[in-house]
This record gives sequence, C-alpha cells and structure tokens, in this order.
Amino acid sequence: MAQFTLPKNSKVKKGNDIDAAGAGAKRMKTVRIYRWNPDDSENPRLDSYTIDLDKCGPMVLDALIHIKNDVDSTLTFRRSCREGICGSCAMNIDGTNTLACTKALDDVKGDVKITPLPHMPVVKDLVPDLTHVYAQYEAIEPWMKTDSTPPARERLQAPDDADVLNGHDGRGPAACILCFCCSTSCPSYWWNGDRFLGPAILMQAWRWISDTRDEAKGERLDQLEDPFRLYRCHTIMNCTKTCPKGLNPAQSIGEIKKLLATRKQG
Ligand code: SF4
Ligand code: SF4
Repeated sequence: MAQFTLPKNSKVKKGNDIDAAGAGAKRMKTVRIYRWNPDDSENPRLDSYTIDLDKCGPMVLDALIHIKNDVDSTLTFRRSCREGICGSCAMNIDGTNTLACTKALDDVKGDVKITPLPHMPVVKDLVPDLTHVYAQYEAIEPWMKTDSTPPARERLQAPDDADVLNGHDGRGPAACILCFCCSTSCPSYWWNGDRFLGPAILMQAWRWISDTRDEAKGERLDQLEDPFRLYRCHTIMNCTKTCPKGLNPAQSIGEIKKLLATRKQG
C-alpha cells in the first residue's frame, strides 16, 4: 500500500541566488537546482545560478559542469559519457525526466529548473539512490540462461530474430541504457514501486524473453505472472512518452501481457 507520509524535511525552500555571469556577460541564463545535503539537518532548497552561456557548452550538462568547476564545487550530480549512452545524468529538467547531456539549454524557455528523478530517495543534490531499482533488475536475471549443450562457437541468431532485440530502427529493447527516466515518470511505479517492477525493468525482462537464444522463457514468464510485478502497469504511457532514447517500454510490457494471455489459452 502506498505511503503518503512525507519525511520531516521534504519541503523545498528557496535557496541562494548566485550571480556567476559577471559584468560583461551578453547571453545569460538562470539555472535553478535542487540542493540537499544529508550531512546537515537543513531542508532541501532550490539554488539559482545565473551563468554566462558563452562560458559553457550548449547542453544542460555543460551548465552543470561549468557551475561545479567554476562556481560551486559542492554541487553533486552523476555523469559519465556525455553522449546519451550511459544514462548516468538522468534527472528532471523543466518538468520532464530526461538526460542532461542531450537536453539543450536553448530548448528551455526561461529559467532551467533541475530536480532529481522523482519518487526516488535522494543520496545528495541531483543523485538518486538506485539501490532498489537495481535489485529489481537483478531479480529478472538479466543474462542468457541455457540448458542445451553449448555449440563449439557462439550461439548464432538469425538477423530477423536479432531485429526483435535491436529494432529495425535501432530502438528495440536492447537499446535501453537503464537511465530510469521511464520508471520514475510512471504513476504506478510511484505508488507501487516496492512490488511493481516498472517499465525499465519490464522492458529488460522482455529483452530476455524475446531472445531466441535464451531457454528460460517459461520460467521468466512464471516470475512475472503476478498482480504487482507486471499487472500494475495500467497502460498510462508516460514511460514511452518520456524515454530520451525514443524507446517504447509500454509496447514491451504489452508483448509480455500478450504472451501470458496466449499461454493461458494454450
Ligand atoms: S504504460 Fe503507464 S503504467 Fe505502464 S509502465 Fe508505462 S507509464 Fe507505467
Ligand atoms: S526505456 Fe528509455 S527511459 Fe526507460 S530506462 Fe530505457 S532508455 Fe531509459
């Protein structure tokens, strides 16, 4: 059952206004960033940094790196590849979960408001605690399971079968970068994330169920046939709408439901 009790310090208060642009700045932008430090007893706050756009690159992640390097080294966020490949810099920007490295500052009208991925515990500032969602990932056993004798070389797959994983347009379930923008935009996951696996993990479950080389399809479906793990998806579609890689987790979930329905009839 969902808990609606907010922790004592959950109210976000107004934070500091920091003018980091300097007198000669011609192109300025204000970035409002959620700040919370577990080491003090303060409430979270929204700090506003006004920056000179000519001093940083074009993306939201460039602005965050500029602020951390040149203005306030205490600002904490995850990032790695800067190419939309690793999923580390997933956060809520201008009201939408997305990747800071692929979101252009110019795409946001007015101030850029940045908060952590919603409905996740926060480690510090923009860093969500992914412990639970990774435990859910582990639970679907995301590796190839086989009983048959291994071939002398690798297990081959027909191009059409590989297309199911990769997608004809490169947007199949294997392209998922596990950024969790989708799961943290799903109302069902907000309220039932303790037991509902959420769109990111279910899409990965489908990635293995639909892999023709895997030999544990029945066992994988048994694991998912549960009122919470799978069926808390009510086809709200926020997941597909928000995915920064243009993937379709809702469709993957639909495929699993279809397989389970046909298995019952068979
Ligand atoms: S389709 Fe809706 S309910 Fe289902 S996982 Fe996506 S956002 Fe959640
Ligand atoms: S489906 Fe998209 S939004 Fe969800 S985890 Fe994968 S890449 Fe991220």
